Amino acid sequence: MRFCSLGSGSAGNATLIEASQGITSTRLLVDAGFSMRELTRRLARAGCEPAELDAVFITHEHGDHIGCALAFASRHRLPLIMSRGTWRAVGNADFDPALLRIAKGAEAIALGDLEVRPFAVPHDAQEPLQLTLHDGAARLGIVTDLGSAPDDVAGALAGCQALLLECNHDVALLRDGPYPPSLKKRILGSHGHLSNAAAADLLARCQHPALRDVVAAHLSERNNSPALARDALAAALGCAPADVRVADPALGFDWLQLH
Ligand SMILES: [Zn+2]
Ligand SMILES: [Zn+2]
Repeated sequence: MRFCSLGSGSAGNATLIEASQGITSTRLLVDAGFSMRELTRRLARAGCEPAELDAVFITHEHGDHIGCALAFASRHRLPLIMSRGTWRAVGNADFDPALLRIAKGAEAIALGDLEVRPFAVPHDAQEPLQLTLHDGAARLGIVTDLGSAPDDVAGALAGCQALLLECNHDVALLRDGPYPPSLKKRILGSHGHLSNAAAADLLARCQHPALRDVVAAHLSERNNSPALARDALAAALGCAPADVRVADPALGFDWLQLH
C-alpha cells in the first residue's frame, strides 16, 4: 500500500491511497476538499486519472473536505462513501442513490484490495468519521479533524505502520494570535482541532515498534509551523524532527510506500 496527499489544511484536504495485489489495484480518494478543476489537476500531479479511482470516502461535511465530492463522484460515476449524518448535511436529490454508500463507525467496508475501517471522532460536524485502511499486509491510519482523542480513537489506530495525524495548532500561538475569541474557543474545544501537544499525546498512546512513518497534517498556516509540529511529534516518537514528515497545504506530499 502507498499513499500521498494532494494538499492538507483549512484550504482543502485530499489523500490518495493505492493498494495492489498481483495484477489488481485499488485506489481510494479520502476527501475532495477542492474545486473539480483543482482536484483533477492535483490527481494528475500524483499520476492518477479520476477514472482510475474506485471510490471516494468523505470524512465529514466541512468545506475543506467535501469540496466538489458530489459533482466529482457524479461526473466520474464513482461510489461515494460517507456517514448518514454527513449525507444529511450535504446530500441532495439530484445525486444518484446507486452511487451512495453509507458508512458507520466500527463497520468495515471491503473495497477491492483494501479494507476500510471507519471510526467516530469528536469534531463539530454531524457524524464525522476518520479511518484506517488495511491491505492484508499493512495498515494506514488517517485522522485529520478531531478536537480530542479519547481511548477508542487511540485503539482504532493501534497497529498502524503509518499515520496521517492532525497537528492543527500550537496552543500558545493560537491563544496569543489574532483569531476572534469565539473561533479560538471552537478550535481549542474538545470537538475542534488537535493541537501539536494533543497529537503528540495520541501518538505516544498508539506508538509501537512497527510504526515507521508519521505525517503531520492539517496544520494551521496562522497558528502553527512545520518545525513546531515536527518537534512535538519527534519528542513523542523519540526520533529526529527531520524524520517526521509534514503535509504541505498546497503540495501535500509525494507517494509514501508502507513497509
Ligand atoms: Zn472539520
Ligand atoms: Zn478540516
